[in-house]
This record gives sequence, C-alpha cells and structure tokens, in this order.
Amino acid sequence: MKTNRLETQLIHAAGTDEKTGAVNVPIYLSSTYHQADFEEFGPFDYSRSGNPTRQKLEETIAKLENGTRGFAFASGMAAISSAFMLLSAGDHVLVSEDVYGGTFRFVTEVLPRFGISYSFVDMTDLSEMAAAFQENSKVVYIETPSNPVMKITDIEIAAKLAKANDCLTFVDNTFMTPLYQNPLDLGADLVLHSATKFLSGHSDIIAGLAVTKDPELSSRLGFIQNTFGSVLGAQDSYSLIQGIKTLGSRLKQSSASARIIADYLHTHPAIEEVYYPGFRFHPGNPIHERQATGAGAVLSFRLADKAAAKTFVESLQIPIFAVSLGAVETILSYPATMSHASMPKEEREKRGITDGVLRLSVGLEHADDLLEDLEQALQKVRRTHPAELVK
Ligand SMILES: *Cc1c(COP(=O)(O)O)cnc(C)c1O
Repeated sequence: MKTNRLETQLIHAAGTDEKTGAVNVPIYLSSTYHQADFEEFGPFDYSRSGNPTRQKLEETIAKLENGTRGFAFASGMAAISSAFMLLSAGDHVLVSEDVYGGTFRFVTEVLPRFGISYSFVDMTDLSEMAAAFQENSKVVYIETPSNPVMKITDIEIAAKLAKANDCLTFVDNTFMTPLYQNPLDLGADLVLHSATKFLSGHSDIIAGLAVTKDPELSSRLGFIQNTFGSVLGAQDSYSLIQGIKTLGSRLKQSSASARIIADYLHTHPAIEEVYYPGFRFHPGNPIHERQATGAGAVLSFRLADKAAAKTFVESLQIPIFAVSLGAVETILSYPATMSHASMPKEEREKRGITDGVLRLSVGLEHADDLLEDLEQALQKVRRTHPAELVK
C-alpha cells in the first residue's frame, strides 16, 4: 500500500470511529470496563493500562514516527522520566550537555538517588562522546537541535556509536516533530516528545509522547507506563489528536516566519548572535540538513546583557513572554530564569546560556507584524543601552 506524505498522514492517522463513522475520535471517559465474559476479558480493562481514546493517539504517533508502538504520558517530563526508568541501579547514561532544564534536573537530582550515574557530553564532538562511554553505559540521550543554543548532533552517527557500546539511543524530538525529523529512521531506539509544544500547538494541554520500534523495548516501556502510571487522560488525548491534524500547516508557516526573523535579527546591530540551525553558516547546518527536512520555528539570540534583555522584553507588544514554545502565538522566553532556571548559573553559562540570551518560538501571526514589533523594541534597546551600538 502507498504510504502518504506526512501532511496527509497527520490528518488521517487517527482515522474515523469504526462504530459510528464519526470523523473525530470519541472521548471515552471511563476508568474501567465491563467484562462481558467471565473467562475471556475484552481489549480494555482499566484506563491506566489502556483507554480507547489514548490508544488512537498512541497509534497515531507511532505511525508518524515510523515506530511500532506509541505511548502517551501526562507530560513530556513524565515520558522522559518513564524512559529513564528502563534503567537500573549501577547503570550510566550519556546526556547531551544542553538538554532541557527539566531533563537536566531529573538526570542530576533523581537518577543518582536510584544509583544511576551520568556524564554530560558535547555531542557535536564525536570524539568527546566516544571517550565518555563506560563499561556500565546503557543510554545515549540526545536533544537536537539543543535548547536554547541550537547545537546539532548527528543522530545516525551517535546511534551507531551507542550501538557499538551496547547502549540504547533516546532522542527528544520536541523541536523538530515527526514532520521534520524521524530519529527512528536514523537508528534511534526511542523517540520522546513534549507534546505540550508543537504537536498540540495551542498552549492548552500538557502532554508527552514516546515511540519505540523494537518489540522487546516496546513491551518494557509499556510495562513502565502501566506500572508508573503517569498516563495522559482521555480528554487531553483527544485535544492532542486534534492538534496533530494541523501540525503540517502550522509548523511550515511558523518556520517560514522564523527564517525571515532569523535573517532580520542576524543583521541587527543590537544583536550579538543568532542561534538558528537554518543558517548556512551554522556549524551544525550540514548535519541538520541531512537528518531533518526543516529548520523549525524556534531560534535564540543574544543581546548584550540582562538589562538589554529586560528593555527588549518590556517593549514588545505581540509575543507572549512565557515559558514553553510551539504554539499558535509567538512565545518569547528568557532561558536564564525560565527553561533553564533549574540549571546552576555556572553550568548555564558554560553552555552559552548567558543573561542576554532570549528564545523565540515563532507563531502564526503575520511575519511583518512580528518584524515591526521586534524593530521598535530593538530601537528602544539601542536608545536605552547605547553601549550596544558598537558591534
Ligand atoms: C517542554 C520540554 C520538555 C518537557 O515537557 P513537559 O511537557 O513540559 O513536561 C522536554 N523537552 C523539551 C525539548 C521541551 O521543550
């Protein structure tokens, strides 16, 4: 059978309701299920273990990521934490050095209490990565592009290196979504999403997804999902299925605007640096173009210091100033006190996340309105902080 392009799959992957033909998946608000037969139980028994609405979502994400099994969790962090629960005391993990702040917190503050050690690695440097493996290493955990400085890791090579060292490869694919990057096709074993972001797209739900390919790993993660129990509810599963349908046009539109904004910021004298994987001169660009089909809708940039960042944020009219990303509205965040607040200042600055860095997740507003808003705010920065005139 012909496999449709992802934009088409996004619309139809969840399918119609087999019983009624309803075009939308029904929301099954039921914790438990009557068993008609004393001996032979039906496919559902209890909604922590399985819910028909959640199951449609899980089948959908599995198809979109070219996996065999999907899992829906109560948040991205619930998905990520559950994935790490595949490990046991005595194991060691290699983690991308600039991972999401919540993942950093889990790895550094929770895993050690269960006897699991870690090494943070600059995965753009394959020799550094190769040298970080230990006898007891079990997982290589990748985020690419990384957050917020958009470093690119070669998933295919990292996964090969992981395999050669008997490690599984986990990839947080939140920034790219299955529309632009399919880590399982590149050799990864497990893909994770904060579906709170682009997949749902409307800043309305908190959700996480995981996808596996190997049947044995699938059943191990299924066991953790049911045992740990941080599953996604039926109503949020429904919202997420609806969000996924429009991912194609949302992400393409936002990404097109992000490119225009990145080009504009790059030439602006008040901006010291722009982090955007779509730039030809971005050091990770050749790898990114090989493994992903789009640059995405998130970019970061650096103003001179905290005072400049404050003036800039306070002068903007359109973007929401908030944590999170991947929504219809443009969201501006300040990583130092938001996404990376749980990372000590020293660690943060080592990773390039200085007090002048801001992250912009471009939404669906008209690009010209966003540009005009950025321009007036940057003019204010230049008037208020004349030192930034020098570039
Ligand atoms: C937001 C985010 C997470 C955490 O997801 P939640 O849904 O907030 O729990 C993990 N990874 C990345 C890259 C994120 O942006």
